[in-house]
Amino acid sequence: MERVTTLRRVIGGGVAPLVDLVYPPRCPACGEGIGEQGGLCATCWNDLAIPGDPSCGLCQRPFGESGPDEGSICAPCLGSPPAHDGIAAGTLYTDTSRKLVLALKHGRRIALAPLLARLIAARIRQAEEERLIIPVPLHRWRLWHRGFNQAALLARELAKAGCGTLVVDGLRRTKRTPSLGGMGAKARTRALVGAIAVNKPVSIKGRHILLVDDVLTSGATSTACVKALKRAGAKSVVIACFARVLDEARVHT
Ligand SMILES: [Zn+2]
Ligand SMILES: [Zn+2]
Repeated sequence: MERVTTLRRVIGGGVAPLVDLVYPPRCPACGEGIGEQGGLCATCWNDLAIPGDPSCGLCQRPFGESGPDEGSICAPCLGSPPAHDGIAAGTLYTDTSRKLVLALKHGRRIALAPLLARLIAARIRQAEEERLIIPVPLHRWRLWHRGFNQAALLARELAKAGCGTLVVDGLRRTKRTPSLGGMGAKARTRALVGAIAVNKPVSIKGRHILLVDDVLTSGATSTACVKALKRAGAKSVVIACFARVLDEARVHT
């Protein structure tokens, strides 16, 4: 798909039908043939779960139709108030969103980034002040291994969509952390102590930040990022992610 997009960019839209003939468009989640490049098949669109209202006033966790009123606070937030100032999730974690994230991450489907970012942008509340868009960083070893940071790809697309100004290296990993999958909440937090630092404290001070990641699971990594940004003087930090996991037991990425 990357190749097709690049081809189109290079030779312009006029020859698109010819490109489609050579590379028939396929749904990036299930591989089913589709009418046009850059979308999903109808079944996969239907499986995407867009978080709705009413939702938690602090973290936008959807309550479902029979839930409490808009502006109420969910049980996890009541238990421990979040460090962030809201979560804008493009979708809730389902089989299809998992496949899309894996396709972006491991299948190098860089052309998927605009589609996923469009879904995130739709959930970002308008802000009066300009935001800085900062991706959750990858350690340089992982970056080298994978070739790109999927959070940075999404961040770049969000900047293109007018959600703020991209500061791609606003945060950095200061040490390699083990994979957090399978760890309990306390072990995750411990593994991340001192692992994330702000690169340019001067540009963060007094600013509103949109922190971008592909999947939001336990929130241990994003919390470490939010805390680093707040220590550097950020006025607010809203987390923007493509797939938000509400029930942690379900996820294995
Ligand atoms: Zn599909
Ligand atoms: Zn909440």
